[in-house]
Amino acid sequence: MGKILNGKELAKLRADKLKETVKILKNDGIQPLFCVINIGDNPASKLYVRTKKRQAERIGIEEKIYQLPNDETEEDVINLIKKLNADPKVYGVMVQLPAPEQINVNHLMETIDPAKDVDGLTPSNMGRLWQGDHFVEPATPSGIIAMFDHYGIELAGKDAVIVGRSNIVGKPLAALMQERNATVSLLHTKTQNPEYYLKNADIVVSAAGQANLITADKIKEGAVVVDVGINHVNGKLVGDVAFDEVKEKASWITPVPGGVGPLTVESLMEQVVKLTRRANGR
Ligand code: NDP
Repeated sequence: MGKILNGKELAKLRADKLKETVKILKNDGIQPLFCVINIGDNPASKLYVRTKKRQAERIGIEEKIYQLPNDETEEDVINLIKKLNADPKVYGVMVQLPAPEQINVNHLMETIDPAKDVDGLTPSNMGRLWQGDHFVEPATPSGIIAMFDHYGIELAGKDAVIVGRSNIVGKPLAALMQERNATVSLLHTKTQNPEYYLKNADIVVSAAGQANLITADKIKEGAVVVDVGINHVNGKLVGDVAFDEVKEKASWITPVPGGVGPLTVESLMEQVVKLTRRANGR
């Protein structure tokens, strides 16, 4: 039976350490502060923003939420980002995604100051990541790599499959895993014969947002299985992986909840502190 990759426990360990760093900064009069712009009423987004705020408070970081109406214009959001870029007290700026249709997310990302790009989604920071420069790391991939490190899961020479190619998960995770010398296949909805890739994978990361996508028959015996997906099925929170059956075949597996989710939030806090320290020459 697979051993559990306990993201919740690791996130707490890392948060306790980070709290100490924040204490030192605060003693020197530096208050880590980041701003989250949330446009519209997406209930999941509102929940994520609140979860981040709670975690930030625990660590001593300040999070300021800008809740904007669903019909906010792109121009107004861009003006807000410019204002936050110019505020020396603000060390991180992020836009909670998804954004409503009238907003071109790329335009927002191009406006965020890369030095305050706590999500690592500006074009320059995405490019830097592919060049091996970890100026800032997107939170979910960063948390997953921290988990591999903590549990001693070696990536070098391994065949890894990531299901999903989004800018926030699949693509940056592929950059980080190939940097650790894994051979990475990035699967998506147009992949022909996904079973072929999954069956041969030593490591499977699923970030598709489809409950029961990864079943035991699809994976190799002893594979490491990381479940990023968040799905609501009959009022229950589940991932992409059929946990009960896959855990019997995997060597390591993340639960949902309590796996990647807490690490994502914690890694975001790590990035806020990283940007705060850098802005203050630390
Ligand atoms: P997106 O919707 O942006 O991307 C989903 C990706 O999965 C796309 O590339 C899509 O392919 C691919 N995909 C969807 N279904 C299949 C399938 N059946 N087979 C192969 N590929 C498929 O989602 P995100 O990356 O933003 O999020 C993915 C999931 O992870 C969601 O459930 C989200 O809630 C969760 N999430 C969890 C986090 C955490 O901390 N635990 C953090 C971030 C996200 P295509 O490109 O062809 O459309």
